[in-house]
Amino acid sequence: MLQALPACGRLKRSGSLPAAEAVPTVVGRRRRPGIGILTSVTPAPYTSSLAASLAPSLLERFQGYAQIDTQSRRDRSGSPSTPGQLELGRRLVGELVEAGLVDAALDPNGYVTATLPGSAGSEPVIGLIAHMDTSPDAPGAGVQPVVHRDYDGAVIELPRGGTRLDPERMPELVAKGGHDIVTSSGDTLLGADDKAGVAEIVTAVAHLAAHPELPRPTLRVAFTPDEEIGEGATLFDIPRFGALCAYTMDGSEVGEVQDETFSADEVIATLHGVEVHPGQATGKLVNALRLAAHVVAELPAQTLAPETTSGREGFIHPYEISGNPGVAEIRAIVRDFDDGLLREHVELFQRTARAVAAREPRARLELAVHRQYRNMRTHLEAVPYVIAAAEEAIRAEGMTVRRTAIRGGTDGSRLSEMGLPTPNIFTGGHEYHSVREWASVHDMASAAATIIRLAEVWSRPLADEWAA
Ligand SMILES: [Zn+2]
Repeated sequence: MLQALPACGRLKRSGSLPAAEAVPTVVGRRRRPGIGILTSVTPAPYTSSLAASLAPSLLERFQGYAQIDTQSRRDRSGSPSTPGQLELGRRLVGELVEAGLVDAALDPNGYVTATLPGSAGSEPVIGLIAHMDTSPDAPGAGVQPVVHRDYDGAVIELPRGGTRLDPERMPELVAKGGHDIVTSSGDTLLGADDKAGVAEIVTAVAHLAAHPELPRPTLRVAFTPDEEIGEGATLFDIPRFGALCAYTMDGSEVGEVQDETFSADEVIATLHGVEVHPGQATGKLVNALRLAAHVVAELPAQTLAPETTSGREGFIHPYEISGNPGVAEIRAIVRDFDDGLLREHVELFQRTARAVAAREPRARLELAVHRQYRNMRTHLEAVPYVIAAAEEAIRAEGMTVRRTAIRGGTDGSRLSEMGLPTPNIFTGGHEYHSVREWASVHDMASAAATIIRLAEVWSRPLADEWAA
């Protein structure tokens, strides 16, 4: 709604971007003199001069990473699941070495690690983590980032796929008047999840390496593969990483620090029917696909589905049905912040599948439950200063802290459980896993600056006490 837009915003002439083969990489009045849609929008200020100074190199890195196809693939046979992640990994090693992190390396499983030594030598070792892969849930090849300078608060029409970013449906976008916004060209995801996080970490450590006078603890950097398929932590060598705690840069809205994730299981129901030629099927065919459809239809869609729940409510989300009349498989993810409720939701799925199968004596049912990750809160409660340090860094960068719970998981969910306390910090990206994905350059720069502030917080004597 217009009244929800910043006062200076007004509707942009629709169709102002050509749906041509070549996608302009920068749009907006600064780069399009003479086009005649000048608005009264003034560029938004950065949260600090530090953030402003980081923005150009940060954006350049982000645009470069986004164009490498690092989409991960489910049911992987090795790590990483796709070769593009190694390509990005090699590029990151080169950039980290160039920045002065001499031990930067890519291991055979696709993990990039590097060290920035501390300024005095006695500080704790603190980890910074982001994931290199992008979601398999939207097209991830051929990403062409488009920068929209000085966002005017209007609907953003992307050049491909008829994709529109409508601030009426994206409350976070409303607040970004005057920001530089990065989107895809409309027919792929952008990959801000989590290349924004990767670019922020590289930019921050490169800045620290170039400014040895800035205080910092020893920083250990890790870029993980296959986070989106739940495998980012699987081959993460925590003892070798050697950090007291770590931060994933994998959140969203500016100022966020997240110490809670869902607890997560996957449930799989395999229904065996009786396959017969449909011409001779009378009284014989038992269609497994029909049974699977019944199971999904009988799950509570109003009270326990991602599309009807929010906040701290959990859900059962069937995300794939496959098969044929002979055998059909339903895959669903089950989520809740409370482990007891998670168990109840899993049991409900199982009861529903059993009840449907029981109505057809010739059908056979197999059920499997895979544990995915658990809410990291319990592990982070034991080390409250880890969150406190992040909050202090966010405030030092001039932002309001938003302590939120993630309706999802991060590498930190499993790393915290495995012994490396790892909360999550915002990146400035939004609408993840979709062709509408966007990120604010201003907010990404604030995130990179937050890392530099966090290094300062961890370099203080108080940090020694925390680490003791
Ligand atoms: Zn992510």
